[in-house]
Amino acid sequence: MNDIAACAAMIGIDEDKRLIVTACNNQFFRLTGAPVNDAQTFPVPLDAMVTDSVANELREKLLACFGSDWVQQPEQTHDIRKGSVWWRLSLKPIRHERNGARGHEILMTGLDMSARIEQSQEPEVEASRYRVLVDLAYDAILTMDENHNITLFNRAAENLFGYTSAEVMGQPIVILLPERFRANHPRRVKQFADSYQPNLRRATAPRMDETNSVYGQRRDGSIIPVEIAVSRIDLNGRVEFMAVVRDITDRARQMELLKEQATTDALTGLPNRRGFLQYIQTLLGDTDVFSVFILDIDFFKEINDEHGHDAGDEVLRVLAKVGASMMSRPCLFARWGGEEFVAALPGADASRAYDIADALRKRYERQDFAQVSRLEPIPFTVSIGVVTREAREADVDALMKRADRALYRAKRAGRNRVEAG
Ligand code: GH3
Ligand code: MG
Ligand code: MG
Repeated sequence: MNDIAACAAMIGIDEDKRLIVTACNNQFFRLTGAPVNDAQTFPVPLDAMVTDSVANELREKLLACFGSDWVQQPEQTHDIRKGSVWWRLSLKPIRHERNGARGHEILMTGLDMSARIEQSQEPEVEASRYRVLVDLAYDAILTMDENHNITLFNRAAENLFGYTSAEVMGQPIVILLPERFRANHPRRVKQFADSYQPNLRRATAPRMDETNSVYGQRRDGSIIPVEIAVSRIDLNGRVEFMAVVRDITDRARQMELLKEQATTDALTGLPNRRGFLQYIQTLLGDTDVFSVFILDIDFFKEINDEHGHDAGDEVLRVLAKVGASMMSRPCLFARWGGEEFVAALPGADASRAYDIADALRKRYERQDFAQVSRLEPIPFTVSIGVVTREAREADVDALMKRADRALYRAKRAGRNRVEAG
């Protein structure tokens, strides 16, 4: 009896309705929580063996079994739990004759079900816990199978994409992408699947990084910038992909704004020095022939002194507006700083650049522009130093210094003029 994994005991009942153990194996001691006692003599009152909280529950069930019509209920099963131990008991009434007396006992067998908690019940608990978690998640979570069809779509995904889960289940994942990305998608998934190394735990906490910024398409056709983290899940030989998707519309807008602010001059709205230099860098690569000039307002200090700083600002704005209107793409007019402005003139050789600069100078001199000023027009003139890139010249600093020297010469020569350097 001790060799079987189940616990087994014969339980009788005396005239006073007290439960008595008439035999048991060692496993029964495990049920009771008592240490195994090989010297245990029988019969012994059940209460003497089972003393803890299990006793009441067990006693109740046994008494109920004795009281029931045992012919009609040949076997009952009950679950008894104590701590992490879970027994499934079977109570089987036995009728017998011993020494001529009719007896009525119960064969109690019990299986330790504790090990099955992990195997059978916990996955259900886990699954429902997981479902709740997925639905509560702030981020959109979706999974797709090997055929790239959607197999899970949480509430945040419903909100983000405007589809209900029922609508997209089993649908190809590409319906969530802008048209232009759809053809390429299977190839990208394959690349990801091939490069994915689940055993390589990252040293840093997982995060959604910039490189995974992509676009999604809502049900109404609108395009949204999203950040996406993808993982591969292997389910008993089946492969699924899980994506956590976050709407980054606000952040993308914010980033754009910051980028723009970083390269834009607040007073005039022109590109600032950084914006100008970035543009020159692109010209260095693509354009063999280009010129630049630096422009400085003549006696600007006097304008400030005479009309006030606000009027000075207004002159800067007017100058900027006129300059930008004369130098549209691919030319670029920018504020270099203070009352100095610069222009990039791709494709313009020295003589063309001189003509452009001098035409601008003359327009300022003549005040030859529709009234763009909010104040009384203030006459002003400018001096300009213009230079042309030398063969394969790549040093922007040196180029701008040459322009500055030409400007200095224009000032020295009497102002309101253009000098080429
Ligand atoms: P010149 O260039 O012809 O030699 O004479 P200038 O009077 O223009 O000489 P300078 O370059 O020394 O003076 C430039 C003045 O521009 C000084 C500064 O107060 C003024 N300034 C610089 N930035 C601004 C600005 O944003 N707004 C206004 N109102 N004034 C500015
Ligand atoms: Mg100056
Ligand atoms: Mg000046």
